[in-house]
Amino acid sequence: MGTPQEGRLADKVALLTGGASGIGRACALRYAEEGADVVVADRDAKRGAEVVAEIRNASNRRALFIEVDVSSEDSIEAMAAAAVTEFGRIDTVLAAAGISSAQYVSGAAADGQTGARPLVTTKLSDWQRVLDVNLTGVMLTDRICARHMIELGVAGTIVNVASSAAKIALPGAADYCVSKAGVAMLTQVLALELLEHGIRVNGIGPGFIETPMTQSMRDDPDGLAAIVARTPMGRVGTPREMANAALYLACDESSYTTGHTIYPNGGMFVG
Ligand code: NAP
Repeated sequence: MGTPQEGRLADKVALLTGGASGIGRACALRYAEEGADVVVADRDAKRGAEVVAEIRNASNRRALFIEVDVSSEDSIEAMAAAAVTEFGRIDTVLAAAGISSAQYVSGAAADGQTGARPLVTTKLSDWQRVLDVNLTGVMLTDRICARHMIELGVAGTIVNVASSAAKIALPGAADYCVSKAGVAMLTQVLALELLEHGIRVNGIGPGFIETPMTQSMRDDPDGLAAIVARTPMGRVGTPREMANAALYLACDESSYTTGHTIYPNGGMFVG
C-alpha cells in the first residue's frame, strides 16, 4: 500500500478502461488526486505508460498500466485478474474505452475512412465493431470486475461512460447512438442486479468534450459551429469536468444513487 491519505477515494483501488486518453485519462488523474491507487487499462500501451508516469509524478499513489482489448472477454478477464493480483482488490471501475466510426464523434473507421455513415450503407462489420467495443465491452468489463468485487466482499462502485448520444438521434451514427443507449440501460439493469452485493452502478453521458475523439470535428469550423449550436453553454466540455462527474458517482458522496446516468453536457437537454 502507498501512504494512507485523505481524499474522496482514499486508499481505494480504481480500474479505468480507456485510461490512456481523453476522459479516461482525466479520471485516472483525478481519482489519484483523491487518494486512489490506479490501474490504467487501455489498448494503447505507449500512452498508458505516459499516464502512469503522470500519476506517479503528481501523487504518491500507486499506478499500473495493463494492456486490454475490451472487445475480448479473455483480455478483460486477464486485466481484472492482474489488477487484483497486483493491488489486492478493485473498489471502483470506470468503463470509458470507446470508439466511433462517425466523423463528428471520432476518427477513423475500421476501413480507415472517416465521415458520418447512413445506416443503409453502414457495413455490418463496422456496426458490429462499435457495438462490440462500446456496449459488449462495457458489459464484460462491468460483470468481470463485479465478480471480483463479490468474491472479495467489496461494496464497490461502477461508472459507465455512455454519451448524450444515448438520448439524441444523430443521423450517420446509429451504431454509436445505439451502443450508448444500450450502456444507459445496462447501467440500470446491472444496478438492480448488484444491489444485494452493495455495489452501485451509475453512468455519465458526456456532451461534446475536448478529447482526441472529437478532434476532427473541432478542427473543422463547421463542426465546431455545430457543437456550439447544440450546446446552450456555447463551448465544449473539458475532460476534467467529466472526471468530476465520474468522481462523484465513484465515491461515497453519491451513496444514495444507483442506476442513474448523469449528463454533463452544457445544458444540451434543456434548451
Ligand atoms: P479517446 O480520447 O479516444 O479515449 C478512448 C480510449 O479508449 C483510447 O485510448 C482508445 O484507444 C481506447 N480504446 C478504444 N477501443 C478500445 C478497446 N477495444 N480496448 C481498449 N481500449 C480501447 O476518447 P474519449 O473522448 O476520452 O472517450 C472516452 C469515452 O467517452 C468513450 O466511451 C466515448 O464514447 C465517450 N464519450 C466521449 C465524448 C466526447 O465528446 N469526447 C462524448 C460522449 C461520450 P485508441 O486511441 O487506440 O482508440
